[in-house]
Amino acid sequence: MAKSTIIGFPRIGAYRELKFATERYWREEISAEGLKQVGVEQRAAHRAMQKDAGIESLISGDFSFYDQVLDMSALLGAIPVRYGWGGGMVCFQTYFAIARGEQRGGVDVPAAEMTKWFDTNYHYIVPEFEKGQKFKVSCEKLFREYREAADAGVETRPVLIGPVSYLLLGKDHENGTPLDHLDSLLEAYAEVLRRLEEEGAQWVQLDEPFLVTDLDDRAKAAYVKAYAALRAASSLKLFVTTPFGELGDNLDMVVALPIDALHIDAVRGANQVEAVLAALPETMILALGVVNGRNVWRNNLEASLQLLERAAMKIGNNRLWVTSSCSLLHVPYNVSSEKNIPSSLRKWLAFAYQKMEEITTLTRGLNEGRDAIAPALVASSQAMESRKVAQALHEPAVHERMVEQPLISAGRASPFAKRREVQQKALELPLFPTTTIGSFPQTAEVRKKRAAVHTGSITQESYDHFVKEQIASCIKFQESVGLDVLVHGEFERNDMVEFFASKLKGFAFTEHGWVQSYGTRVVKPPLIYGDVLRPAPMTVELSHYAQSLTPKPVKGMLTGPLTITQWSFVRDDQPRHETAHQIALALQDEVLELEAAGLKVIQIDEPAFREGMPLRRSAWGAYFAWAVQAFRLVSSGVRDETQIHTHMCYSDFNNIIASIKDLDADVLSIETSRSQMELLDAFATFHYPNQIGPGVYDIHSPRVPPEEEIVTLIDKACEKLEPWQVWINPDCGLKTRDWPETRLSLSRMVVAAKALRGKYGGL
Ligand code: GLN
Ligand code: ZN
Repeated sequence: MAKSTIIGFPRIGAYRELKFATERYWREEISAEGLKQVGVEQRAAHRAMQKDAGIESLISGDFSFYDQVLDMSALLGAIPVRYGWGGGMVCFQTYFAIARGEQRGGVDVPAAEMTKWFDTNYHYIVPEFEKGQKFKVSCEKLFREYREAADAGVETRPVLIGPVSYLLLGKDHENGTPLDHLDSLLEAYAEVLRRLEEEGAQWVQLDEPFLVTDLDDRAKAAYVKAYAALRAASSLKLFVTTPFGELGDNLDMVVALPIDALHIDAVRGANQVEAVLAALPETMILALGVVNGRNVWRNNLEASLQLLERAAMKIGNNRLWVTSSCSLLHVPYNVSSEKNIPSSLRKWLAFAYQKMEEITTLTRGLNEGRDAIAPALVASSQAMESRKVAQALHEPAVHERMVEQPLISAGRASPFAKRREVQQKALELPLFPTTTIGSFPQTAEVRKKRAAVHTGSITQESYDHFVKEQIASCIKFQESVGLDVLVHGEFERNDMVEFFASKLKGFAFTEHGWVQSYGTRVVKPPLIYGDVLRPAPMTVELSHYAQSLTPKPVKGMLTGPLTITQWSFVRDDQPRHETAHQIALALQDEVLELEAAGLKVIQIDEPAFREGMPLRRSAWGAYFAWAVQAFRLVSSGVRDETQIHTHMCYSDFNNIIASIKDLDADVLSIETSRSQMELLDAFATFHYPNQIGPGVYDIHSPRVPPEEEIVTLIDKACEKLEPWQVWINPDCGLKTRDWPETRLSLSRMVVAAKALRGKYGGL
């Protein structure tokens, strides 16, 4: 018989219970015991939901108080020395100190580094290894959670990150590569498996997402060695998951591993199914991830069932498990919590609960035959069909325009050198122009007013008036500090994607559709469900208002098409590039109207440009080809003298620098200060032709930079770039900072710019 299972589940709570409890614990409003109790309740609720949806094979240990990678580091005792851990069991205090940093009683340690989990918007805590790193079982959580489920009468499969992925997720700052630590790590894993076996577990799940990425020979050899060791360590059955893509050239190595079950991503990796079936050893179980764990759309049950039936023909029902393409961590809990979504849209949606139902329905279809699930198959194809023809989703005008302005060869009228000349005349900026990235402090007052207009306790009119006052004082502030290119301050925006999504047709919003970004930080991505249209200007009035208050140039401020696409749940009934194309066209209209309204500088933010990059190197070319064009399309109609800026905030540019050049923005501002301009190394070997504003201080920290530090940073930048190319700005928006600190930092930035002008003989 085929079996239904899940490989990971959300944990923040259907109504964010865990998030709120954790934050209360941090504020010392509840005890550690109180927080642990919420964990117990949440896990019980999760098991109940999973049972209720009919999932047969449940998991444990996937729950986390902050992050599953940090949980592994705690389990294995891989705690960086600076957290002063004594070596016993890792407690909440150490755990959260690593997650968030700690400042108390003379202790002052920053949080450990956090970075993106593969190509998702989830962020994990990067493990750190030192020379002679020792690993030893140092946390009982995994065993406790297995027992907890067992005591509740549920036999589970504990979930671990597989040893090779765990190492590859980490960093060894001292020397060598993380894989150097494999041998000692495997001893600790062996201990973990033995403990689980003692507890009574039969299976263990090992997540190895790196198996869908490009692996060098050393990493491949590490897999072979690791799984031989794990096989020998216990008699637990080993289940390896490989979410987020295709096994590709790792397939032969993977099917030769001594494991009992293999999960594959049959959504992103739909094309690999035949090859996997052909290569699968006769004893290995295959868990087919046919339900998309990365998106919120209802499954095409007919297509999934056909795929599963083909697999069953080949390997038999007994060796087949039905599951999702990746953990359900990346989708919200339950569509039924949503009260305001129009029913037409609701019937196309599936969150974690509905996805589990799809998994169990498909499993039944395999085991009992199609007839047993006939009503579900009909409902699913009706939903597909209705989506295809729904008028609200399809805008013929958008499609005509996509044909007129295809995603190829969009670009500015003249080359940069020519534009630079006319822009210089139009803007008359000094050498080393100063600017900011867009947002200014979002004070409690700003947030309160926004909430008030939302709930209707103040009128739209009085809110608009308030926002204009904020803009006016922000413009005055920037003039008084002496900045060269001003911004309106983004006081009207809650979130850089949601703000635009709420003004565009084709987007919808959920009430409870939260997904974890990291720790207690959750995001509620908009749903892009239909063709994207801009019914009315979105930013023109306020940008124009800001410009009317000052003779200095004000930058219009937009979020770019790639970032809007990346930070939303995108429709699955058309390729991603078509969605980005539609958004780009809507933004193009906005850009042209901003220009017509007198804005001479327009910034198109693309902080997620790099994030959209596929995991496999071989797919990068295709991504950049359309991504670059979508960006260019936005500004392709403006006059030469209109200066287009873009902003990106991450520090690893090395492998994307050529594509960034292809964006052909007149000015690029980037995050650099945390890495002390290390990032400019990318510019040493690559001649970046346009202008660039390497962030001169880190806005994520309250620290105010000394002037000399800014001067030194820009000196460094001028070793790699011509002085005329360099702008001076903070490394990201200032919305999380306060006003006094902002005044101090920006004033120093302006003083530093003046000093630099003197030094480099500018205007
Ligand atoms: N313009 C945005 C701001 O200043 C950019 C934010 C970002 O890069 N994430 O807030
Ligand atoms: Zn930024």
